[in-house]
Amino acid sequence: MDGCFWHGCPIHATQPRQNAKFWRDKIATNQARDRLVTRQLRARGWRVLRLWEHELTRKYERRLLARLRRIGLLDASTA
Ligand SMILES: [Zn+2]
Repeated sequence: MDGCFWHGCPIHATQPRQNAKFWRDKIATNQARDRLVTRQLRARGWRVLRLWEHELTRKYERRLLARLRRIGLLDASTA
Protein backbone atom coordinates (compact mmCIF):
# COMPACT_ATOMS: atom_id res chain seq x y z
CA MET A 1 0.00 0.00 0.00
CA ASP A 2 1.52 3.25 -1.17
CA GLY A 3 0.77 6.42 0.77
CA CYS A 4 -0.49 9.12 -1.62
CA PHE A 5 2.01 11.69 -0.38
CA TRP A 6 5.06 9.49 0.17
CA HIS A 7 4.84 7.68 -3.14
CA GLY A 8 3.61 10.54 -5.32
CA CYS A 9 0.03 9.58 -6.16
CA PRO A 10 -1.01 11.17 -9.49
CA ILE A 11 -4.30 12.35 -7.93
CA HIS A 12 -3.36 13.42 -4.41
CA ALA A 13 0.32 14.18 -4.35
CA THR A 14 0.95 17.61 -2.92
CA GLN A 15 4.10 19.60 -3.38
CA PRO A 16 5.22 21.22 -0.19
CA ARG A 17 6.51 24.75 -0.77
CA GLN A 18 8.96 24.48 2.08
CA ASN A 19 12.04 22.48 1.09
CA ALA A 20 10.47 21.77 -2.31
CA LYS A 21 13.58 20.20 -3.81
CA PHE A 22 14.12 17.95 -0.79
CA TRP A 23 10.58 16.59 -1.04
CA ARG A 24 10.69 16.20 -4.83
CA ASP A 25 13.91 14.20 -4.56
CA LYS A 26 12.61 12.20 -1.61
CA ILE A 27 9.43 11.17 -3.41
CA ALA A 28 11.30 10.44 -6.65
CA THR A 29 13.63 8.18 -4.66
CA ASN A 30 10.66 6.40 -3.10
CA GLN A 31 9.08 5.87 -6.53
CA ALA A 32 12.33 4.51 -7.97
CA ARG A 33 12.57 2.09 -5.03
CA ASP A 34 8.92 1.07 -5.52
CA ARG A 35 9.65 0.17 -9.14
CA LEU A 36 12.81 -1.71 -8.20
CA VAL A 37 11.14 -3.71 -5.41
CA THR A 38 8.18 -4.54 -7.66
CA ARG A 39 10.55 -5.74 -10.39
CA GLN A 40 12.59 -7.83 -7.95
CA LEU A 41 9.53 -9.48 -6.44
CA ARG A 42 8.08 -10.24 -9.87
CA ALA A 43 11.42 -11.70 -10.97
CA ARG A 44 11.14 -14.05 -7.98
CA GLY A 45 7.69 -15.15 -9.08
CA TRP A 46 5.61 -13.02 -6.74
CA ARG A 47 2.42 -11.45 -7.91
CA VAL A 48 2.63 -7.79 -6.91
CA LEU A 49 -0.38 -5.56 -6.48
CA ARG A 50 0.40 -2.00 -5.49
CA LEU A 51 -2.48 -0.06 -4.00
CA TRP A 52 -2.73 3.65 -3.41
CA GLU A 53 -3.77 4.76 0.03
CA HIS A 54 -6.83 6.47 -1.51
CA GLU A 55 -7.99 3.22 -3.12
CA LEU A 56 -8.84 1.92 0.35
CA THR A 57 -11.47 4.59 0.92
CA ARG A 58 -15.23 4.25 0.40
CA LYS A 59 -15.14 6.63 -2.54
CA TYR A 60 -12.87 4.31 -4.51
CA GLU A 61 -14.32 1.03 -3.26
CA ARG A 62 -16.20 0.12 -6.45
CA ARG A 63 -13.20 0.93 -8.61
CA LEU A 64 -10.91 -1.17 -6.42
CA LEU A 65 -13.30 -4.13 -6.48
CA ALA A 66 -13.50 -3.86 -10.28
CA ARG A 67 -9.71 -3.82 -10.46
CA LEU A 68 -9.44 -6.90 -8.23
CA ARG A 69 -12.01 -8.72 -10.35
CA ARG A 70 -10.19 -7.75 -13.54
CA ILE A 71 -6.96 -9.32 -12.37
CA GLY A 72 -8.74 -12.37 -11.01
CA LEU A 73 -8.21 -11.71 -7.30
CA LEU A 74 -11.91 -11.46 -6.65
CA ASP A 75 -14.67 -13.73 -7.87
CA ALA A 76 -16.74 -12.09 -10.62
CA SER A 77 -19.93 -12.78 -8.67
CA THR A 78 -18.76 -10.83 -5.64
CA ALA A 79 -20.64 -7.56 -5.37
ZN1 LIG B 1 -4.13 9.13 -3.91
